[in-house]
Amino acid sequence: MHRTYENDDIVVFWNSDKCFHARRCVNGSPKTFCPGQKPWINLNNAETKEIWQAISQCPSGALTCLYRHDIDVTFDQESNQSIALDNGKEIGECDYQITDDVWNIYHTGVSSAYQGKGIAKRLVYKVLEEAERNNAKVTATCSYARKILNI
Ligand code: SF4
Repeated sequence: MHRTYENDDIVVFWNSDKCFHARRCVNGSPKTFCPGQKPWINLNNAETKEIWQAISQCPSGALTCLYRHDIDVTFDQESNQSIALDNGKEIGECDYQITDDVWNIYHTGVSSAYQGKGIAKRLVYKVLEEAERNNAKVTATCSYARKILNI
């Protein structure tokens, strides 16, 4: 399962497939990481510095985080894409097509001025989250998305 969580400063990525429950995140920021609650990650209960530090202790790579850079990532099911916006201006997108309940991510792109901020990863995660919520399988012909999916 792939999920993202955000506060004003950071985006946290969670890949449950990688987690082996070492609980270092819980020990590092117990008010942020609360197994048994839904959602189990709440980024508004502790300082960003504490959360970042706790995530850096995750031994599996299940948790990672990046700064938000005030970029919003939204999902548009009608046009089969996630979109990155800087103050309303589109600066990136991740596109997929659906065949027999399989979502194929075929393109991920971010404007050159916004490279290196993790926006492509946020775009792909947004599509993965929505696919999982729709019980769809996901594949990718986009080489970047294939790396995220480890295929
Ligand atoms: S520290 Fe990482 S591996 Fe351990 S429970 Fe948290 S997310 Fe899972």
